[in-house]
Amino acid sequence: MQRKVTHAVEVATQNGVLEIKSFSSLKKLRNIIAYVRRPFKLWKQRICRGENKVQETVSVEERQEAEEWLIKQEQKKYYQRELQNLSSKKPLSRKSIIYDLNPFIDEKGLIRVGGRLRRASLAYASRHQIILPKQSHLTHLIIRETHEELKHFGINYVLNEFRSKYWPVHGRAMVKKALRSCVICKRLRGVPQEQIMADLPASRVEGYEGTFKFTGVDLFGPIITKARYRGGRREKRYGVLFTCLQTRAIHIELACSQSTDDILKALTRFIARSSKPLTIFSDCGTNFVGAARELQDIMNKWIKSPNLHSHLTDENIKWIFNPPAAPHMGGVWESLVKLAKRAERLPQQKVQN
Ligand SMILES: [Zn+2]
Repeated sequence: MQRKVTHAVEVATQNGVLEIKSFSSLKKLRNIIAYVRRPFKLWKQRICRGENKVQETVSVEERQEAEEWLIKQEQKKYYQRELQNLSSKKPLSRKSIIYDLNPFIDEKGLIRVGGRLRRASLAYASRHQIILPKQSHLTHLIIRETHEELKHFGINYVLNEFRSKYWPVHGRAMVKKALRSCVICKRLRGVPQEQIMADLPASRVEGYEGTFKFTGVDLFGPIITKARYRGGRREKRYGVLFTCLQTRAIHIELACSQSTDDILKALTRFIARSSKPLTIFSDCGTNFVGAARELQDIMNKWIKSPNLHSHLTDENIKWIFNPPAAPHMGGVWESLVKLAKRAERLPQQKVQN
């Protein structure tokens, strides 16, 4: 019993000519052309002989031939006049878009770049690249394939790789256009939309009432210190950072422990050394992680402490807490905490110098 092999190929055509624009994949287009161009006689003979040696898949040579055939069709379509002139050994019109490339027709009938590299020790394909028309959809497909083979690299790399074999007219613009339409690149390199920032709080922009009248406060640490007593044992200390919301002046107090009393002492020292604030702002959100979680607990205890509130009422200071889980608020003191931590990490000698 003889095995029958049947291939069905459907090709979109317009007026009997292959419509390349209906393809989005060069691989598919090339394979279809290779099947269509496969010598039918040879194929039939082999089947009739029962050799069954006909490859079901397209060979590398067939694929290469199919691609060259496609390029030739596109060159015929867009460079008809140039082909006529070149084949009859007439000079090209100076208005021709490929005039500067000094083109010639190779033995396969493809238009290639003449250029000035005839004596260069490069591969023939790199010295005399195949010219690809700017308007052709095939050029777009070839660029897309090169881009995908190069794992979605950028314009310069794709263009450089591409020009080792082909010379697209207006190449950079063509590569840019092809890369812009790549969905994977869009997904990987897309920039997320940014939120428009809200207006600055009134306390930061209204008339100047004196330094530290509107103060932001935050805790940072722990800072490991070496005590001068008890045999120089190492102890944890915490930084209490006060910053003026209008002038960005900064004042740092050291709290001996995490207790509310020590924080209040730091506040009292701050008031004594600078001035009494009208309003103090701070956060009470979970914006610290890891080691700072401990600090946050203290901060929360401190916020809820009745001692603190009675002290503030006595001092006539208004304390406003940012809402919880609002990391977009309090950027003023958060950035200064970062600076303070960076300064703290500097070697002691450098600071002294
Ligand atoms: Zn891409």
